[in-house]
Amino acid sequence: MKSDIPVNVSQPKLKSQTIPTPGCDDTDPNSLSVPQALARINELIQPLNETINLGLSDALNHVLASEVSSKINVPPYRNSAMDGYALNAIDIPQQGKATLKLAGVAFAGTPYQGEVQKGECIRIMTGAKVPDDLDTVIMQEHVIKEDDNITIGTGHTQGQNVRHIGEDVKQDQTVLFAGKLIKAAELGLLASLGVAEVTVKRKLKVAFFSTGDELRPVGELLEEGQIYDSNRYSIYGMLKALNVDIVDLGVIADDRSAIETAFQQAAQQADAVITSGGVSVGDADYVKETLDKLGTINFWKIAMKPGKPLAFGKIDKAMFFGLPGNPVSVMATFYQFVQPALRRMMGQDQTTNVSVQIPCSELLKKRPGRTDFQRGIMHYNDAGQLTVKSVGMQASHIMSGMSLANCFIVLPAESGNIEAGTLVEVQPFEGLM
Ligand code: AMP
Ligand code: MG
Repeated sequence: MKSDIPVNVSQPKLKSQTIPTPGCDDTDPNSLSVPQALARINELIQPLNETINLGLSDALNHVLASEVSSKINVPPYRNSAMDGYALNAIDIPQQGKATLKLAGVAFAGTPYQGEVQKGECIRIMTGAKVPDDLDTVIMQEHVIKEDDNITIGTGHTQGQNVRHIGEDVKQDQTVLFAGKLIKAAELGLLASLGVAEVTVKRKLKVAFFSTGDELRPVGELLEEGQIYDSNRYSIYGMLKALNVDIVDLGVIADDRSAIETAFQQAAQQADAVITSGGVSVGDADYVKETLDKLGTINFWKIAMKPGKPLAFGKIDKAMFFGLPGNPVSVMATFYQFVQPALRRMMGQDQTTNVSVQIPCSELLKKRPGRTDFQRGIMHYNDAGQLTVKSVGMQASHIMSGMSLANCFIVLPAESGNIEAGTLVEVQPFEGLM
């Protein structure tokens, strides 16, 4: 019954289908916005509970697990802010000059033990205890010294150059709260309180590997169709800066079972697993389906450039981040999503990236649809104003541009080209790296 068969079965189907046009990927309705993706990560990620006690120096770059209050006042005693002479303000002349007799010397660490009478003063060094009888220190540059006398003029005020008990930190005051990342200033502050040991969150353990048949390790020769595996090195660098324990699982071929095995190995030993490549829609991209099979997948497309595909989820207890393959996309997605997520896991109170608004010094090209993280160079223009410009080529495989850059220029999804002189959001790398 050939006559019953439609003449051209594919015709009606073609008519009802919209043929995708270039550029439509910038407004993919299935993509999450950058803030949506960050919110989902925040919902799913819980800070680690385990803590360890560390000697003060070893606590550098760890996260404080409980608050610290001070057992002492800092400074613990009234002391001099200057090298000079300590006296009582009643001896400061209202007019003309006054001559005071030197009664003794106070060094830092060796207080003056005697009494000081009216009309007397003592020589005092910076940090030395100011005797209880005295309330004012005059810089040595502001006196004339002759034998055992000094002569001073007018214009000095009571209490000047004296540091007071507890004016930095008061006894019993809470000085640092849980979640604080311990850096140089915190080490110094804690030491000033006499704290020798702190309770911090244990270090995160992060496993990572690259996927791709084309990838060769550095140190070997490339054959046709091969490139060096650079992502494992940039990921290593970014993780090191976060002070996590690192498990480098190397390069895994584009092979379902090899990727499954690597996933399992990684998840068994780490709190977080990071991969690069194989997360897109190509025929050898197995990361997303493996995550789906072995764990849970939360999303895999973000309306951002570079770095659209990004798989986020969980395998067993490990958080999983499947980054794109392109090297610049790896760094952009790491800094925007993985770093805040890892900071949250570490229990840090500050997880978001710092940004500032500065004018761009030239036109920035952009298509509406996705949030751009353009690689920029902050620089001072001829008028001495801090401005930002593009590094030039913005494609996601241009690693030389990533190295030239000192910031991301964050351009909102809806915006098109940005005229020179417009204020733009900039994330300085110094605050990121
Ligand atoms: P994929 O997401 O696997 O399709 O990879 C996207 C692009 O990134 C391709 O050009 C890959 O060759 C490249 N790429 C993937 N992984 C790496 C890597 N580890 N180092 C350098 N380039 C890579
Ligand atoms: Mg690949």
